[in-house]
Amino acid sequence: MFENREKRTELSELGEFKLIDRLTKNVANRQKSTILGIGDDAAILNFDGKQVLLSTDLLIEGIHFDMSYMPLKHLGYKAVMVNISDIAAMNGTPTQIAVGLAVSNRYSVEALEEIYAGMLLACLKHNIDLVGGDTTSSTSGLMLSITVLGEAAPKDIVRRSTAKSGDLIVVSGDLGAAYTGLLLLEREKEVFAKDPSIQPELDSYPYVLERILRPEARVDMVMRFADMDLIPTSMIDISDGLASEIMHLCEESALGCQLYEDKIPIDPQTVTVAELFNIHPVTCALNGGEDYELLFTVSQNDFEKINGQGEFYIIGHMTETGSPKSLITTSGEAIPLTAQGWDGIKKDDKA
Ligand SMILES: [Mg+2]
Repeated sequence: MFENREKRTELSELGEFKLIDRLTKNVANRQKSTILGIGDDAAILNFDGKQVLLSTDLLIEGIHFDMSYMPLKHLGYKAVMVNISDIAAMNGTPTQIAVGLAVSNRYSVEALEEIYAGMLLACLKHNIDLVGGDTTSSTSGLMLSITVLGEAAPKDIVRRSTAKSGDLIVVSGDLGAAYTGLLLLEREKEVFAKDPSIQPELDSYPYVLERILRPEARVDMVMRFADMDLIPTSMIDISDGLASEIMHLCEESALGCQLYEDKIPIDPQTVTVAELFNIHPVTCALNGGEDYELLFTVSQNDFEKINGQGEFYIIGHMTETGSPKSLITTSGEAIPLTAQGWDGIKKDDKA
């Protein structure tokens, strides 16, 4: 429904080589580490003393995204953003991507150009080179696989497994918004299915919709850390909800934790929409997903560096090996955290 209706070029009209030429005609290389990008059998990269970070994500139509409300340009943008978020979560700088794309003939050349336009916009924003990929046909739907490379000096790389007891747990922004945005989109889709003449009522909640449709990877935080001379003791990006991500840090670092319900940052618009759907906003933050904020731990010795900085929210602390992973509620009760992630919440909703 978001395809450009003015012109439709069938994939079969072009053939693979011409298609690749057309999709990659706006690709430009900006990274020093890119020696050779698209155009040969493989890209040539040189990271010159840095360590290389690599991560892959696969997005499947109907599983990870829904074409009925995901504009193609947004899909391309988001696919790149969620990948580079994983590099940011290692405290690295994203540098190159390679793109695998499989599509059915339901998609036109113009539709694929929209996806590429979104991907290249994300690349431009973060100075990333698109250095390779493959395009092929699929029998049904669209599959998009992106591999991202990043770089970091060995001393700067932050893992999940290196938190210490007593470290502060910090998050880079508000949580739960993307999930409430998804709830709105799902509801509008149902309304539209029943009566296509009804126009979606989405204008009242721009922030939560932007969070689900156009997430931003927090590469800016990596630069902030460098400016502040701060290296987190452990880090992860929030793709599956706060509860499951903090449990990853706890398990990988063999520690417990205490999170404080009243410290979890939640935007007022998220609260409004959550209440519209009769869901506790904190549940959206804990068990929703796709906020792509960074969740990290810092030594208490670094408290002064982050204290009073608007973009750092201290939400708890790590506790000793063997101690529970708990949420301390507003009333002071300790509730065990459970790793109910993104998929879990979706299943429960449909049950
Ligand atoms: Mg991740």
